[in-house]
Amino acid sequence: MNNLDKKTAMQFEQLSQLYSVNIVPLVTSVILAAILAFMQRNVISPTVVYAWFSLITLIMVSRTILNLIYQRSSTASQSRTHLWLLRFRLGIVISGIIWGAAGFLMFPDDYPQNQLFLLFMLAGLIAGAVNSYAADIVSARVFSVLVLTPIIIRLSLVGESLYLAMSLASTLYLGYLMMSLRHINHNISENIALRLEATEREATVKTNEERYRLLLSYSPVGIFHYDTNLIITYSNTHFAGILHSSIENLIGLNMKHLKNKAIIPILSNTLKGEIGNFEGRYIATFSTDDVWISMTCAPFQDNNGAIIGGIGIVQDITERKLAEEEIKKLAFYDPLTGLPNRRLLQNRLNLALASSAVSGRSGALLFLDLDHFKMLNDTRGHDIGDLLLKQVSERLSSCLRECDIVARLGGDEFLVMIENLSVYSFEASVQAEMIANKILTTLNQIYFLEPFEYNNGCSIGVVLFNGQNNSQDELIKQADIAMYHAKKSGRNNLCFFNPLMQEAITARVEFEYDLRKAVENRQFYLHFQIQMNHSRQPIGAEVLIRWQHPKRGLVPPIEFIPLAEETGMILPIGLWLLNSACAQLKLWQENPLTRDMALSVNVSSKQFFQADFVTQVQSVILNYGIKPSLLKMELTESVLVKSIEETIMIMDALITTGIQFSLDDFGTGYSSLQYLKRLPLHQLKIDQSFIRDIAFDSDDQTIVRTIIAMADNLNLNVIAEGVETEEQLKFLQDNGCVNYQGYLFSQPVVIEDFEALLKHCT
Ligand code: C2E
Ligand code: MG
Ligand code: MG
Repeated sequence: MNNLDKKTAMQFEQLSQLYSVNIVPLVTSVILAAILAFMQRNVISPTVVYAWFSLITLIMVSRTILNLIYQRSSTASQSRTHLWLLRFRLGIVISGIIWGAAGFLMFPDDYPQNQLFLLFMLAGLIAGAVNSYAADIVSARVFSVLVLTPIIIRLSLVGESLYLAMSLASTLYLGYLMMSLRHINHNISENIALRLEATEREATVKTNEERYRLLLSYSPVGIFHYDTNLIITYSNTHFAGILHSSIENLIGLNMKHLKNKAIIPILSNTLKGEIGNFEGRYIATFSTDDVWISMTCAPFQDNNGAIIGGIGIVQDITERKLAEEEIKKLAFYDPLTGLPNRRLLQNRLNLALASSAVSGRSGALLFLDLDHFKMLNDTRGHDIGDLLLKQVSERLSSCLRECDIVARLGGDEFLVMIENLSVYSFEASVQAEMIANKILTTLNQIYFLEPFEYNNGCSIGVVLFNGQNNSQDELIKQADIAMYHAKKSGRNNLCFFNPLMQEAITARVEFEYDLRKAVENRQFYLHFQIQMNHSRQPIGAEVLIRWQHPKRGLVPPIEFIPLAEETGMILPIGLWLLNSACAQLKLWQENPLTRDMALSVNVSSKQFFQADFVTQVQSVILNYGIKPSLLKMELTESVLVKSIEETIMIMDALITTGIQFSLDDFGTGYSSLQYLKRLPLHQLKIDQSFIRDIAFDSDDQTIVRTIIAMADNLNLNVIAEGVETEEQLKFLQDNGCVNYQGYLFSQPVVIEDFEALLKHCT
């Protein structure tokens, strides 16, 4: 409250006091006036007495009415303090004048007793008035002076010494009243100020109390108070809510008897003046639910600083904790199977390596990959795939001990880590093998993938570890390599890692890199190997690729063609070869000596089954404008394995263009007569393995004779490859084979040498 407000409030209080105490003096005044009038009626003219009394009564009634109006008026209109004070003072002045007039008008000259009575009355009146009106010092003083002055003057006018003394005494009395009035007024003002202050303080306390009550009630945290016996004395709604209880249940609860004892020492310590914190799982006493809470508690002191209990602030952090756990789960566990993921396994593997270094015991890492999982996924859908993965996870977990760990790396790959195997590496590997076999057997049981029954194998790579010789990444890589070998050696198998395996892998990676570079840098060139007819006349050549490696020198095709096929690099290589062969044919076509020379190119399976292989070949032929019948494609039997129908379709399309087909390495594959009959082939090329010993091996002789007879029946041309000796040639000639290829005539050579050879032959 500012000073101005304070002053107004003070005045308002004074005025209220003036008006509230006014009734009694007013009534008393009327009674006194009546007594005075009665007493003086015989000594003063009755007209004067009645007139005076009427005036007194009138003013008193007026003032009473004014009083009542004030009391009943609204606080707002009362607050016009100044106006009401003026009204009050006007009433005081008028009644003071009338009472003062009594000092002259009611003063009987010859009746000393009545004179004294009058003086006594007026003195008494102002004595009372001073008290009643002391709240307004102006009113009290004006009233006293107005009432007593006339009689003082009247007494002095009598002229006798006794009257003069009485006049003087009355003046002194008036002076004394004036002085004491100041004290009384001061006291009243002080009282009013104190009361105002107290009221204001009370209001502030009430406001603060309400504020704290609201804060506590609606605070989003739980708040409770407890006494020195750890008995709860206050709980807000939120606190009760957190504990799934009610405020009534909580108040009076002795926390020493809580189910959760962990918080008791913390609470007790606050009674020694400490601030305590707790964060953890809390099992509520009144319910079966458990929540995660965070609690801070502090001592509560009275005015003298003595600890009278404590206050606790509690937050329900269950949601936060659950979210944290979920995040942890997502970070370390595979969502589909619930198994640990690679990250968690790596952490555990690090620990296992350290503990193996201390204990000297070996451990094993098993890398598992389900066989043909992709096929199941593609044919039956991902839901079924997921179902299998879940069942596999369960089976894997069931095969292992508590301390072992199985993780899903993604897709159909799992890693199993086994610890505490033998200290002797051989024994450890036997133990690891036993576990891996157990896993294989378990995973080989039938799966029920509603509505299918499914049989699934898996390939396992095993690597042993002991101490910290290898990093965890290296170990996982080695297990992976071993698994890859298990897959290669027929699937549903297990294979241990050994260093040679890794060397092979590293070499392969390097080789693949080199091959890529070779494609980019055109490190290939062609050899041509002559093909002869029965009169030793050249009929054409087979184109054989050569790779001149910058460091290794000449790399034989048998080494790099399989890798080129596996990696798809055979496609650009094959296309380049086809272009080169056609370019050569084009050159030959312009020369009468070579015009009828045919060229055989080897075509790999991947190349053959490219979606646009036919158009590719057609556009190359068109591009060079060669005679297509001079281009022969050598297919191996492995091509046929994929799909006979598709093979026939592609061959037919190419035959329409005019191209010829030869079946290379014939006799080494699995071609059935059925197939041979259906395939639109032109030539069978007897594999060199049958030719090698043909001069003396009767089995080979029979086979070759049969092939020749069969080709004859099927109306196919026959060529023998790998002809190295005259004996071999003779046998072939004697048995009706009319085309030959082999070192007897020439090794595969570069084009310049080949053309020189041609000239020599003709
Ligand atoms: P292939 O198609 O059966 O080729 C015949 C292989 O036998 C050639 O080996 C050739 O040099 C060799 N040869 C020929 N006459 C004799 C002989 O009298 N005695 C012996 N011991 N060997 C003889 P090369 O050039 O090392 O090729 C090996 C295989 O690599 C080829 O077998 C073929 O399957 C593949 N190849 C070669 N060039 C290409 C190519 O450009 N594309 C594809 N896809 N494969 C190719
Ligand atoms: Mg060939
Ligand atoms: Mg061959």
